[in-house]
Amino acid sequence: MSGNTPERPRPRRRSSTVLPLPVLHTKYEDHRKQFTDEERKLWNELMEKSGSDVASIQTSIARHMATTLARTPYNVDDFAGYLATAFSVRDQLIKRWNETQEYHTAHDPKRVYYLSMEFLIGRSLDNALLALGLKDKYNQGVKELGFNMEDLIDEEKDAALGNGGLGRLAACYMDSLATLDYPAWGYGIRYNYGMFQQKIVDGFQTEVPDYWLNFGNPWELPRLDISVEVRFYGYVDKNYDSQGKTKYTWEGGQMVEAVAYDVPIPGYDTKNCINIRLWSSKPKKTFDLESFNEGNYDKSVGEQKSAENITSVLYPNDNHMVGKELRLKQEYFFVCATLHDIIRRFKKTKRPWREFPEQVAIQLNDTHPTLGIPELQRVLIDEEGLEWDEAWDIVTRTYAFTNHTVLPEAMEKWSVPMLEHVLPRHMMIIYDINLFFLQSVEQSKPGDRDLLSRISIIEESTPQDVRMAHLAIVGSHRVNGVAALHSDLIQKTIFKDFVDFYPGKFENKTNGVTPRRWLHQCNPVLSDLITKKLGDSHWTTKLTDLAKLKQFADDKAFQKEWMDIKKANKARLAKHIEERCGVKVNPEAMFDVQVKRIHEYKRQYMNILSVIYRYSSLKAMSKAEREKQVPRVIIFGGKAAPGYYVAKLVIKLINSVADVVNADQEIGDLLKIVFIPDYNVSIAEVIIPASDISQHISTAGTEASGTSNMKFVLNGGLILGTVDGANVEINEEIGDENIFTFGVLAHEVDDLRHAMRYRNMPMDPKLQKVLDIIYSGVFGDPNVFAPLLYSLQNGGDVYLVSVDFPKYLEAQAKVDEAYKDKEGWAKKSIMCTAGMAKFSSDRAIKEYAESIWNIKPCRLP
Ligand SMILES: *Cc1c(COP(=O)(O)O)cnc(C)c1O
Repeated sequence: MSGNTPERPRPRRRSSTVLPLPVLHTKYEDHRKQFTDEERKLWNELMEKSGSDVASIQTSIARHMATTLARTPYNVDDFAGYLATAFSVRDQLIKRWNETQEYHTAHDPKRVYYLSMEFLIGRSLDNALLALGLKDKYNQGVKELGFNMEDLIDEEKDAALGNGGLGRLAACYMDSLATLDYPAWGYGIRYNYGMFQQKIVDGFQTEVPDYWLNFGNPWELPRLDISVEVRFYGYVDKNYDSQGKTKYTWEGGQMVEAVAYDVPIPGYDTKNCINIRLWSSKPKKTFDLESFNEGNYDKSVGEQKSAENITSVLYPNDNHMVGKELRLKQEYFFVCATLHDIIRRFKKTKRPWREFPEQVAIQLNDTHPTLGIPELQRVLIDEEGLEWDEAWDIVTRTYAFTNHTVLPEAMEKWSVPMLEHVLPRHMMIIYDINLFFLQSVEQSKPGDRDLLSRISIIEESTPQDVRMAHLAIVGSHRVNGVAALHSDLIQKTIFKDFVDFYPGKFENKTNGVTPRRWLHQCNPVLSDLITKKLGDSHWTTKLTDLAKLKQFADDKAFQKEWMDIKKANKARLAKHIEERCGVKVNPEAMFDVQVKRIHEYKRQYMNILSVIYRYSSLKAMSKAEREKQVPRVIIFGGKAAPGYYVAKLVIKLINSVADVVNADQEIGDLLKIVFIPDYNVSIAEVIIPASDISQHISTAGTEASGTSNMKFVLNGGLILGTVDGANVEINEEIGDENIFTFGVLAHEVDDLRHAMRYRNMPMDPKLQKVLDIIYSGVFGDPNVFAPLLYSLQNGGDVYLVSVDFPKYLEAQAKVDEAYKDKEGWAKKSIMCTAGMAKFSSDRAIKEYAESIWNIKPCRLP
């Protein structure tokens, strides 16, 4: 579908108003066919025909194999089988998608638009089959055609258009929006290269580009007829209209075209099928014809190249801002195309502008789409001719903003000179937004200059910076954190001044995960057991029903069934580990998992230090003593940002320790360490159901929520964690006896950091012992690890590893003790799953819908 499409002739705008609005051309809208009743009937009959019985499914797979893929039965492999099956499922999705859109257009409900630079969707085939209720029929259908469904599912490449938790949250929320029948759209970027693939070479992470589109993507629909022109650079012209009013127009610069690609998201057990619209960049002109004719081929192709660069690659930094101009262009490209699409849809209804916030809710997933605020203001005042105040009222009633972090290095700031260069008109508007805002602050608290400089959208640094979080707060009617502790913390620290000024604007929306993917799909056997036990419950869409499992927690037969499934899941993971890492692990051992982005605040370093401690303790034991110990497999996984040197060293340390320990005959199965490369959604679906215990051990106050903690507990895995993020609320729900918590509390962190930095705190002797072992060289040249070792000394221990270490070891010992009691552990595991109702993304989405978006379900008959 890609390639060079010649420019289409575009309709001329009737009036020569101030500025050519980025023109949207949807071909079919202007030239709709007026079918006769008979013709329409024929169409409807034919469209209904493609049934969903096994025979029709097989026909459709075979047709796609023969025509879409142009394969004969002599030329078919599992990948072709996957593609043909996926295209056949896609046909079903598109039907629902069309019905949903038609229904929404007819009923015109208020819609929510979820703007996210990342959607970490993972695979779609299994998910779609389960949502459509067609898994069994497709299983039978492909089996008779000589395929095994599991193998086909395994052929799919992940859609990895996200870094980690934030992108996965957006994907879970789309699943819930669809399932709960909300009229919703996701908007994002179609990166040509998603999250890089991680390879481990000699213990180090190396990055390989993610060629996810190279073999085609059956889950997207190119909408080459839907495009928006996006401007960059240029200048602002000042004019006067007929009444003598000042008019600004943004002109010149570079024009890039945004083309829509639609990804249908089916609701589970409902007809509702919503859409994620991803924008891809294309040069406005395929060729500079003049330049081409002059023989200047390089230059004309060069322009095309530079435009395509905008959506080429996902920035691989999680919770870390990188102030690159290309990233700024991605952000504006995304919001500009999205807003024009939203506005086009709104304008079709011919409502007055003041009704915009009654028809449209826009959620900003972190500050990345915050330029949407000045962009909407610009469209309203420069292009639609509204007065500033009228426009600003519409803007602020439309937007809401989710904050995802308090880490200072993650806070988005853009330098004023760069913004001025790339988006000159937006910079002017931001200055005005800030001026009016600061005037109102001054009015309510006269004379407080410190307050003005703290709260200002512009930071008075050299050069000046635009604080995107401040802009997002000022331009939104609601601001939320993502777990109770985090929402409380932002109101007491980074946004304190705003809370005083905007009482009622801040609230909490604790994150959730979709139980469809993160229990029903990834743990099918446990899912069947739960369904069997709960009778006619629809727990997949009504997770509160899980609480009914509590009555069986002491039932010995049920405990056995429950733990047998855990063991089978561990065996499945063990097979994976052997294939991927060449390490044999014993499914009878405790599986202890830490999989997430590698980051200092998440403290994988503390984990591997404790593993070294465990190893040295085991080595010091007598054989008799050793035999009493609980065998453990310690599983790590996660990507480090390519430029994050210290995080990459942690990966190297884990692999170096693993090499030594795994080869130690004396230790054998008592301790095994594996680093599973290329952690992503599809491998998470194998790892999570297999965990006995997982670690969520961030320094208190640094992990906003965490969502993998929820996935693990939902699958009957216990948590070893700090009092941080959503761990706190998980603890409240499942009870103290079913979670292992330790460590300093969020409110103690500042003082402790201060003490670490300015006082000579003695090193914990057990930690010192571990450091000495690394220095001794058993894990290779200690100089390699010098920056890591150094970070714990001389005031460098920002994440308080040395403070929490002793308590961490104590908690680890409690885990070992608890695991020895098999029945006690089984009960805890059941109580974990049974207590997770709150953490469904359905609950979270209902809360957003009711208290922020003010939208209602719009259910297809
Ligand atoms: C859920 C998930 C995350 C988030 O994990 P945290 O432990 O909450 O940081 C990251 N990556 C993938 C692939 C996930 O599925």
